[in-house]
Amino acid sequence: MTLCLSEARPDPPETAVDGVWLSCIECDATFAPFEAVRYTCDDCDGLLEVRYADLPTFEDFEGELGVWRYADALPFEAGVSIDEGGTPLYEVPTIEAETGVADLRVKHEGMNPTGSFKDRGMTVGVRVAERLGVDRLACASTGNTSAALACYGARAGTEVLVLLPAGKVAAGKVAQASLHGARILEVDGNFDACLDVVSDLADRGEAYLLNSLNPFRLEGQKTIGLEILEQFRDQTGDLPDRIVLPVGNAGNTAALYKAFRELVRSGALDADDVPTLTGVQAEGAAPMVEAIEEGNDEVHRWEEVETRATAIRIGNPVNAPKALPGIRETGGTAVAVSDEEITDAQRALARDGVGVEPASAASVAGLRKLRESGEIAADERVVCLTTGHLLKDPDAAAAAGADPEPVPADTDGVLEHLGE
Ligand SMILES: *Cc1c(COP(=O)(O)O)cnc(C)c1O
Ligand SMILES: [Zn+2]
Repeated sequence: MTLCLSEARPDPPETAVDGVWLSCIECDATFAPFEAVRYTCDDCDGLLEVRYADLPTFEDFEGELGVWRYADALPFEAGVSIDEGGTPLYEVPTIEAETGVADLRVKHEGMNPTGSFKDRGMTVGVRVAERLGVDRLACASTGNTSAALACYGARAGTEVLVLLPAGKVAAGKVAQASLHGARILEVDGNFDACLDVVSDLADRGEAYLLNSLNPFRLEGQKTIGLEILEQFRDQTGDLPDRIVLPVGNAGNTAALYKAFRELVRSGALDADDVPTLTGVQAEGAAPMVEAIEEGNDEVHRWEEVETRATAIRIGNPVNAPKALPGIRETGGTAVAVSDEEITDAQRALARDGVGVEPASAASVAGLRKLRESGEIAADERVVCLTTGHLLKDPDAAAAAGADPEPVPADTDGVLEHLGE
């Protein structure tokens, strides 16, 4: 029952609506997609996945690059949208030369409307909420999910509640949630505690949950993988061998794997050509890395987590049951990096003109580490995913960068200061 690349294409069950249904990844129970609010399996509480009777090939994708180019891979033709996706795939010559891989690109998800990839999930998730007719949306968040939900909820005209760990959310993200009009509840606890509370609220019918436990969000996030394949092929003529990405709740790891599984099933991609998924966590919040290193089937929750990369300060990655098979079946791995290595990678990206928040830089820090250990080979074509924009966390950026130098308000004084 593990999610594997060679899975046969399933027949639609009676519960399917327009060729779409929900399936439990643990017990294969199926459910109608939009008839009732449901986040996990009624029978065994396992994670749910959206399934489709028809899976598209690359020829089916039409229109501008962006989430809704991939409508044939999604449950709707259109969403609550402000042009999410279609983010740049940058060359990073300095880091490419330094790491010595054959080809290196950075997929900068910080270029989404609210500055993180979370917008891709929300354009689909908030559309589902409309279909279900719910009147309050909620999430727990390390920051970016709350910014995206506040924005898309505002766009849909729906009330939004966000639960944030007090004192642990970067300034830009709180400002966004605030201006877009969400009610912000600062919880005296970490992200995992926020998610426990908001999941409870959702179970009691108080709000519709839009954390990545919600299987529809991951549908939107699949499009990161689809865009990477199309852009990388356009730019280099090939597909990437490996995708390196930061891991928090492991939603993206799960979503990219699902995108590739579906392409394999539709015949659009050879199983051998699926990029190797490589997850990176901060040393102070690395339960996925622990599970991969120890060969465990389950991820054990870390009660205490700490890292400067607040977006991945997560001890209980809810999508681990979907993400672990993704890493293993694609021949990938997971690695932990220190906060110093993250900040160093943030500076390296900035030198190549790419401004990211700390969690995003974890991907490049992980690439560096795995090149040093030899795990990533010199002939590999690699994409690093950078998940959020530099301005999300101005304090971290200022701390990592150069300090301003006070000078007098006259030219001679300035020249003297410059030592000329
Ligand atoms: C949400 C987030 C992550 C973590 O992504 P997962 O899909 O939960 O693993 C990483 N970086 C940034 C900037 C984020 O906002
Ligand atoms: Zn089940």
